[in-house]
Amino acid sequence: MEGAERSMDPPKIHRLEDSVINRIAAGEVIQRPVSAVKELIENSIDAASSSINVVVKDGGLKLIQVSDDGHGVRYEDLPILCERHTTSKLSVFEDLQTIKSMGFRGEALASMTYVAHVTVTTITKGQLHGYRVSYRDGVMEHEPKACAAVKGTQIMVENLFYNMMARKKTLQNSSDDYTKIVDVISRFAVHHTNISFSCKKHGAARADVHSVATSSKLDAIKSIYGVSVARDLMEVAASGEDPSSSFFKMQGLISNSNYSAKKMTMILYINDRLVECTALKRAIEVVYAATLPKASKPFVYISITLPPEHVDVNVHPTKREVSLLNQESIIENIQSTIESMLRSSNSTRTFHTQVGHVSLSPLIGVTEDANLTNSTPVATKSQKVPVHKMVRTDSMDPAGRMHAYLQDNPLRMPENKADLASVRSVIRQRRNPKEAADLSSVHELIDEIHSNCHSGLLDIVKHCTYVGMADDVLALLQYNTLLYLVNVVNLSKELMYQQALRRFAHFNAIQLSDPAPLSELIMMALREEDMESGSSDNDDLKEKIAEMNTELLKQKAELLDEYFCVHIDQQGNLSRLPVILDQYTPNMDHVPEFALCLGNDVDWEDEKNCFQTIAASLGNFYAMHPPLLPNPESEEGLRFYKKIKQQGASEDPQKDSNDLEDDEDHELRSEAKTAWDQRDWCIQHVLFPSMRLFLKPPKSMANNGTFVQVASLEKLYKVFERC
Ligand code: ADP
Ligand code: MG
Repeated sequence: MEGAERSMDPPKIHRLEDSVINRIAAGEVIQRPVSAVKELIENSIDAASSSINVVVKDGGLKLIQVSDDGHGVRYEDLPILCERHTTSKLSVFEDLQTIKSMGFRGEALASMTYVAHVTVTTITKGQLHGYRVSYRDGVMEHEPKACAAVKGTQIMVENLFYNMMARKKTLQNSSDDYTKIVDVISRFAVHHTNISFSCKKHGAARADVHSVATSSKLDAIKSIYGVSVARDLMEVAASGEDPSSSFFKMQGLISNSNYSAKKMTMILYINDRLVECTALKRAIEVVYAATLPKASKPFVYISITLPPEHVDVNVHPTKREVSLLNQESIIENIQSTIESMLRSSNSTRTFHTQVGHVSLSPLIGVTEDANLTNSTPVATKSQKVPVHKMVRTDSMDPAGRMHAYLQDNPLRMPENKADLASVRSVIRQRRNPKEAADLSSVHELIDEIHSNCHSGLLDIVKHCTYVGMADDVLALLQYNTLLYLVNVVNLSKELMYQQALRRFAHFNAIQLSDPAPLSELIMMALREEDMESGSSDNDDLKEKIAEMNTELLKQKAELLDEYFCVHIDQQGNLSRLPVILDQYTPNMDHVPEFALCLGNDVDWEDEKNCFQTIAASLGNFYAMHPPLLPNPESEEGLRFYKKIKQQGASEDPQKDSNDLEDDEDHELRSEAKTAWDQRDWCIQHVLFPSMRLFLKPPKSMANNGTFVQVASLEKLYKVFERC
């Protein structure tokens, strides 16, 4: 009651004092010592320095000192150097569109003076002596003092967060600030190879990062991250030429299948700015996990250049995130470039590890992707066949069922595959004994996907163009001069199944806004089954089944959570589901069916069968089924909505408010339309691009109606010619 009364009295609004505003703003720009270091180094780079040296005391809390040999600061600018919004890099808003410098807000130095003691020593070209001056809260504490100085600027930031006790306390307990500083300097050193960087702890004799100017990024990485990293890197490059969709250039160095690390290292530069782009990072991680499951924590350094007007640098207070025009298509392009590089590198994999008794020499170069390596020449060859010869038809079967034409290449497996497998498992075990023990059955399942892959269909999936949906489940594809109808439900089901195994134990989570009680879900599913079959068992029996299944799943909760990110809490509520494809959430209408499937269809006895059946249930759930409401744009859909309308009218003849009814009808239709539009979008923008990257179509798809060739453009062309 009291709370309610109080809330009726609006609190008075008053203006904050400038010092408070500034300190709050400063706290956002300088979140930790490493943010100050990053800003200071960026300033030094903007000042055209060729050498930047950093000294740190107490993780940066006591002292951060950055010295450069750049152009220095003019004497007459010193009074406003640390005022907020003073900068030499931007004058009108439009400059932001083409800005090349890293700084532009004139906020960094000012912010530091609100949360630390800042002292600047600087000398400009042609001067006999330099100046030193200290700042507090944006202003000089005294007139600049003449002093001896070497070329450039030295900025000392002392007692960081001295006036923000809470922040200082939390930071004091964490020992990793120095590590973060070393990390960010390393990242700068990889890209800015014309600058030499060093970083050391105050009083230490040796630097922890030390790079010398070089012309090669690989040399820079070698000197910073070590030979063992540099050895396993390969150059990567991609570009987009289409100014309307993706116009960019990318180059960099990425790790190959020999590289293994506990964490992904991603060094990303966009237009020479060190930034983060979560979507791109994830996209690359996914390619690695799918292509090189054992090297799935890669080292990636890439530098992207775009027309400056395509990058919005002003979306993040510390300029850490940028947003790009046409981000999706750029990411897709980079993703597929990396994927094809990994595939070819994977086939020339070498082992640095010596593996005792097994002779490696004849085996090097043969990998789990042997099937792909074998199928590629077939694909390339077929492209050389004259177009008219590629059109194969069968007079007995006008639809031209494709399985008759696709060669089912039996895999030429390396003869001593057994040896190879043993080599691999030895290496795997050595790298991570626990993981090897846990995952061997998943690896077997993934190997089976690979060896059961149909090379002809793989080629179609990789190189087809999506034309559109032909009906609720069939999509039309063009592949060279052939047209195919493909079943998107089957395809998506298989893709989800395969991805569920590839991402095994490494899923991101979809959090359900309301945890759903399993027993109710299962009841719903059982009632639905009844409705479909027309039978009606009594509810008691259903309740019994639901209860038993819920108990079973509660017992299996740990396994489901750890390996498949299906989280079931103590009370038997489903609260979390895995992300199987990025940017895709399954249709929640199928949750009940999934809950029932987990209880009924999963084999909990045998490990391998268990993983397979869980992945299959997920595949079924996440598949792109047609939405439950009929498509309002189809004949059938129209009939459906008409019928509903009539029913509504007859059930309630007195209802004179036609408007209301129309409203409901309208709502239902627009809900249905949204669902169908969304699915179409996902099919085109999520399903097909991901299939291109990840799907290994199983042989069965050649003759179970998943792929059906319907026409050859070549033939059609001839038909039209005759007309
Ligand atoms: P911004 O970098 O956004 O312009 P800062 O607060 O980081 O804002 O820096 C303010 C100004 O101080 C810069 O525009 C630049 O002119 C000057 N400055 C800062 N650091 C240096 C440096 N190391 N060498 C030369 N000039 C510097
Ligand atoms: Mg700056």
